[in-house]
Amino acid sequence: MQPFSYIRPATPQEAVGAFAQAGEGARFIAGGTTLYDLMKLNIERPRHLIDVSAIEGFNRIETDGDRLRFEANAAMSAVATDPVVARDYPVLAESLWKAASQQLRNMATVGGNLLQRTRCMYFRNGAGGIYPCNKREPGSGCAAIGGLDRGQAVLGTSDTCTAVSPGDWPVALVAMDASIEVLGPNGTRSMPVADLYRLPDTTPHVEFTLDPGEMITAIVVPKTLAGRRSTYHKIRDRESYAFALTSAAVALEMNDDRVERARIALGGVATRPWRAPESEEVLAGQRLTPELALAAGRAAFRDARPGRHNGFKVELGARTIADALRIAADRSRT
Ligand SMILES: Cc1cc2nc3c(=O)[nH]c(=O)nc-3n(C[C@H](O)[C@H](O)[C@H](O)COP(=O)(O)OP(=O)(O)OC[C@H]3O[C@@H](n4cnc5c(N)ncnc54)[C@H](O)[C@@H]3O)c2cc1C
Repeated sequence: MQPFSYIRPATPQEAVGAFAQAGEGARFIAGGTTLYDLMKLNIERPRHLIDVSAIEGFNRIETDGDRLRFEANAAMSAVATDPVVARDYPVLAESLWKAASQQLRNMATVGGNLLQRTRCMYFRNGAGGIYPCNKREPGSGCAAIGGLDRGQAVLGTSDTCTAVSPGDWPVALVAMDASIEVLGPNGTRSMPVADLYRLPDTTPHVEFTLDPGEMITAIVVPKTLAGRRSTYHKIRDRESYAFALTSAAVALEMNDDRVERARIALGGVATRPWRAPESEEVLAGQRLTPELALAAGRAAFRDARPGRHNGFKVELGARTIADALRIAADRSRT
């Protein structure tokens, strides 16, 4: 690990100011559960760490009014167990408590979670030149393409990168049309969570759309009745403490057994949290039957591009959506 300076600002404004002053090589750090890991692996080499975890009152969870608002430093475990979130937005709560372990969820923040980096084994284990990785060393190549690609993406891939976007929480947020509030050197702005993530295209090392020095201050989720009829369904190699092979965030507005509107996003199968409008269209206005649910699931994978060992994700992903639709539909609206 290379030496770095370390400061703990008292306010978001102070943190953004410190970042601007530090310049290149500066990074925010919150729970540290991702960044310290990547520093030890020699993948991240920051020169200045700006620790935002000590900012007083930067972890509020607001559920009154017409939206949910989570400040960036709220712990994953705190949001997952908030009574309103757990009761009215199971998709959000489940995406958090099905992630990582209880110890990690106590440390990790809902802001930091949005910016975690891929768990692609060639990205994480190849520092020092063992394996090429365009995300780690732009232009070096991709060992996953044509290599051991069982965990890789089948949607949103490019000829330079097939690494999966790893987070569960961002998938649920994308399904719920959530946005983030951002503070930067030029003031504040807000953007949909879906727009935070870039496709790999020819520049897989550029993963997020934040400008240098911009800090996420809060996550905002519009309130909707569909929240109650929602779920985050996650399929993984182990029942706990594992990243998704496939996952589906589903929220339904139903009129008796007809779907008025479905919101669906996928994890574990794509290079960014993946909204599935093709599936939503198949369902709109239709009576939800097992056959229709599977057809909706399969529609999401029409453009899938599997590699050598990950073709199973296409059918597993479709069935994950179908099962999530059943779970969400079975949930009472009241
Ligand atoms: C063993 C293990 C298993 C895991 N399993 C899962 C899993 O199954 N599902 C899942 O979703 N996640 C999983 N995770 C990832 C975990 O959820 C993330 O590490 C965590 O959410 C990151 O939050 P943090 O606060 O610790 O971020 P940090 O490590 O502090 O920061 C992460 C990134 O966000 C940036 N950052 C932090 N806060 C801000 C801010 N406010 N504004 C701008 N930038 C910021 C940092 O610069 C850094 O780039 C796992 C992690 C581990 C170690």
